[in-house]
Amino acid sequence: MANLSLRHIYKVYPNGVKAVNDFNMDIEDKEFIVFVGPSGCGKSTTLRMIAGLEDISAGELRIGDVVVNDVEPKDRDIAMVFQNYALYPHMSVYENIAFGLRIRKMPNEEIHKRVTEAAEILGITEYLDRKPKEMSGGQRQRVSLGRAIVREPKVMLLDEPLSNLDAKLRTQMRAEISKLHKKLQTTFIYVTHDQVEAMTMGTRIVVMKNGFVQQIDTPQNLYRYPGNKFVAGFIGTPQMNFFEGTLTKNGNKVDIKFEYSDAMITVPYEKLLKARPHYLDGNHPVYIGLRAEDASLDPEVVANSKYKVKVVISHIEELGNESLVYADINMHGDGYTESSTRIIIKSQTANQYTPGEVYDCALDVDHLHLFDKETEESIIPRIPEVNEIECKVKDGKLAFLNSLLQLPSAITCPEGKGTMLLPTNAIVFGGRATANAVECEEIGGKYLVSLDVAGRRLFAVSEKPVKLGECNISIDMKRISLHIEDTVVEAMNEKVAFNGTFDKQKVVEDVAIFKKPKKDKKQAEEVVAEQATDEQPVAEQVEQPLEESEQPEVVKYKKRKVIHFYLNIAGTRFDAPDDIAQKIFATLPPRTVFSTPFRYEFTPYDFTLADSGIPAKVERVLDYGNEKFAVVRIDENTVINVFVKDNVWGDVYLQPDISKVGVVETVRDIRLA
Ligand code: ADP
Repeated sequence: MANLSLRHIYKVYPNGVKAVNDFNMDIEDKEFIVFVGPSGCGKSTTLRMIAGLEDISAGELRIGDVVVNDVEPKDRDIAMVFQNYALYPHMSVYENIAFGLRIRKMPNEEIHKRVTEAAEILGITEYLDRKPKEMSGGQRQRVSLGRAIVREPKVMLLDEPLSNLDAKLRTQMRAEISKLHKKLQTTFIYVTHDQVEAMTMGTRIVVMKNGFVQQIDTPQNLYRYPGNKFVAGFIGTPQMNFFEGTLTKNGNKVDIKFEYSDAMITVPYEKLLKARPHYLDGNHPVYIGLRAEDASLDPEVVANSKYKVKVVISHIEELGNESLVYADINMHGDGYTESSTRIIIKSQTANQYTPGEVYDCALDVDHLHLFDKETEESIIPRIPEVNEIECKVKDGKLAFLNSLLQLPSAITCPEGKGTMLLPTNAIVFGGRATANAVECEEIGGKYLVSLDVAGRRLFAVSEKPVKLGECNISIDMKRISLHIEDTVVEAMNEKVAFNGTFDKQKVVEDVAIFKKPKKDKKQAEEVVAEQATDEQPVAEQVEQPLEESEQPEVVKYKKRKVIHFYLNIAGTRFDAPDDIAQKIFATLPPRTVFSTPFRYEFTPYDFTLADSGIPAKVERVLDYGNEKFAVVRIDENTVINVFVKDNVWGDVYLQPDISKVGVVETVRDIRLA
């Protein structure tokens, strides 16, 4: 039993294929995680890296508390089940299951106990004397499961274990594997390209595409709240219907117009509160997604619905208990080919409809999905990024909703009317303004708080739950941006990034040679401070304080050349933290380490002004009232904002807090920290 942590995991194959990009996930003990996605998306590669069958190009993998990047597969306490069973044909089922234990020299008695128990669990007791070729595919897969179970691993890894089985057996084995997971109470990680398998088995699912994680969530959340069009289309059968369209806000209503047809529905604006206003101007193309079960031809449903479109039915697929009606919202569409106007409708009343005829179809607008046509990201995400609010600037004050705020001197803005972009993370709980919290929903460990401010719905994100009712808020002014008349005042840039390299330098150091302790001569001869070599950083040493009487006596000092490693940040060297140096050596091809460009990232809060460091020139100070930031120029192309307590000016030196550094190798775009 174990939890796993994957941090910035990458796989770059020697041929340059970047199969896995920045995979981050914490897996709890006893979870059943499914990696799903189309062929080639990187799911097997990720599983094989966890198994230790594939080197991890960059990143950190922990099983329990131990970093296992360099731990041999056999020592990782994992067991893996493969698609092709990987059984030894000449051995009996019993011996196949026992094989791994025999290699580990387990006593025969214990082996017998484990094999018979596993056979019992899997219902293959009567086949223990058979050879694999005398068994069906399903039985063979049970044997390979048995071989994994008897190891009593901390983590079970299953790579498409059911894809060689026929449909009926797959369904049966699916249920059996879920049962096995409950019984064994072990962490399972399961790879499949079959979304039904993923949805029915996983406690959480990782949807992948082209080496990138698209979404990690529970089956229900993936189904209800797909974050992008790919996830929306991948999860669910039949595939979600997608139409192209535009949204136009008219007062408290929004017209949803479907392209290439006359279809249009008008929904209350409150259904689209989370959408950024520019999507509602009638000019931004979107994808409208609707699942087959969220459309209905049932005359009773249609009669009671306010949201109807006309469809012409092309054909009907009978599934037994229900039917799929293929239709088109374009009266000239054929309904057979997937298109921007084809609609598939789940129906219990399909025998009432005639192909070729036109019917009213009711749409369940509570389950509409909307995606940006370009980025394909949801435009009504569960946690929206910003609130867009009408505002006015006059006499140095910002008026919006019922509030009037003094603009801090950092924000210089002409007078006039316009809009304010207020990010959800710029609303801070606590402060002098009051709002009414009407809803607080936990989403992925954070809280989305719906606020009523002067009759307008605003969204805020909080790390902690917020009590409903009246609450105090304030606004983090450095995060707002204003569009007043023709002027755009951007939010403060909180990104601090420098170009740099990783450097080394040989230095001559005095190294102490100690007197040999009496007991262990051999060891004592080696007691010199450990040196770094050209290609390896100094190993981390845990220094134990010695008792006074144990202090070894220094005999002499010897001069030795030692190599020091540095992060060269914008031309200034800083001692490289050991963990960063180790990650760089572990990730980069050896001969490229000192010639590769890196990007070093910080936040504005990671600096102090000191007597030495990165030379910079203060151009001005941004005063937001409660915080000040110096705008400092590093070179022609680099200007950053750093937090300062007081006003500063002129030439300064910046000392970054190196322990906070984010490191990106820019050639292959790999994040190391
Ligand atoms: P999946 O399991 O999702 O089908 P894989 O993890 O097997 O995908 O592969 C991900 C990508 O990595 C694919 O583009 C594949 O061609 C590539 N790939 C897999 N194995 C190797 C390899 N040994 N050498 C080079 N490229 C590989």
